[in-house]
Amino acid sequence: MIPAVMPTYARADLTFEKGEGAYIHDTDGRRYLDFGAGIAVTSLGHCHPHLVKALTEQAGKVWHTSNLYHIPGQARLAQRLVDNSFADSVFFTNSGGEAVECGLKMIRKYHAENNAPGRYRVITCEGAFHGRSLAAIAAGRQAKHTKGFEPLVDGFDQVPFGNLNEMRAAIGPETAGILVEPVQGEGGIRPAALDYLKGLREAADEFGVLLMFDEVQCGMGRTGKLFAHEWAGIAPDILASAKALGGGFPVGACLATEPVATAMTAGSHGSTFGGNPLAMAVANAVLDVILADGFLERVEGIAGYLKGKLEALVAAHPAMLAEVRGSGLMLGLKCVGENTALIAELNANGMLAIAAGDNVVRLVPPLVIEEAQADEAVAILETSCAALEERGE
Ligand SMILES: *Cc1c(COP(=O)(O)O)cnc(C)c1O
Repeated sequence: MIPAVMPTYARADLTFEKGEGAYIHDTDGRRYLDFGAGIAVTSLGHCHPHLVKALTEQAGKVWHTSNLYHIPGQARLAQRLVDNSFADSVFFTNSGGEAVECGLKMIRKYHAENNAPGRYRVITCEGAFHGRSLAAIAAGRQAKHTKGFEPLVDGFDQVPFGNLNEMRAAIGPETAGILVEPVQGEGGIRPAALDYLKGLREAADEFGVLLMFDEVQCGMGRTGKLFAHEWAGIAPDILASAKALGGGFPVGACLATEPVATAMTAGSHGSTFGGNPLAMAVANAVLDVILADGFLERVEGIAGYLKGKLEALVAAHPAMLAEVRGSGLMLGLKCVGENTALIAELNANGMLAIAAGDNVVRLVPPLVIEEAQADEAVAILETSCAALEERGE
């Protein structure tokens, strides 16, 4: 008989009831070091006091009004995102997929408003993940996501990730935009070369197409900058954010420059829940922490510390681990054996991590971890690799 919860996930047999900081407890009272962070979402750890306060205070005032009225938290959050990024204007959503969808619609609308309605196609990269809506699976074009959902939404082309020549060659008279993750997440923690990102900006300018970055996973401080593309010293025209933006409260945002955002007018797009007062209270509290003096520098520091330790781990276990890669606290261990076997062993030893493509174990801890937690994670990884080696798995 089918479970009441639709079985679209192969869930690990774990159930959690409370968390604090980098730790989460299951219903049997076991404590886990949470290096999955709910898929790079709980970036400030579980139950951060500043976030709990912001949420509960807003809960006693007003939860929801719809976007038919002004929402002060939106004005404040949008202004702060604008002040701290390339963007001039922001649309709020409830999820990453919706932020991507908004960006894709803006790409089409921009060209429609600028006398180039024939430009409607968007080029994406192999290994990409942009969400699960019909447009997003057509954009990501991963067989495991598209199978059975054909025909795919028209208007997407795909080229290998990181190859600028192929990207340039794929731009045609119908191309409207380029959509890329500066660090591929689901695809296996694959950071784009900074020269590649610069080359994308040049190509977009040269051919008159828009550049959109999907920073749903790699943004919001994860790499040690507010947005990952900042490392390349260039800016997109559009950016999708979500995941860590709400620290665990569902919220997303689509950021755009003025020329692009100008194409969107009253009635162009909408969302009942997007940017509601509860979501805005929490996201503003998240920004209070991430934008505080020294926070991002600290992320960079602890990330370098952890990566150094993981490099030593890889060197010590060549039969288990092929490499460590990533940017900031978005790290991946490419496995020699099955990544799922290592993840199960980590779970058994009290640590959570997440599988990613290319046989990678994804480590996306809360950005607030200290050296002690980095050491603890490496010790659990060490024990787990040794156990798998011992059992010959
Ligand atoms: C998670 C993710 C999405 C989709 O976000 P949802 O909130 O699940 O809709 C889109 N793009 C990237 C890069 C992601 O990591």
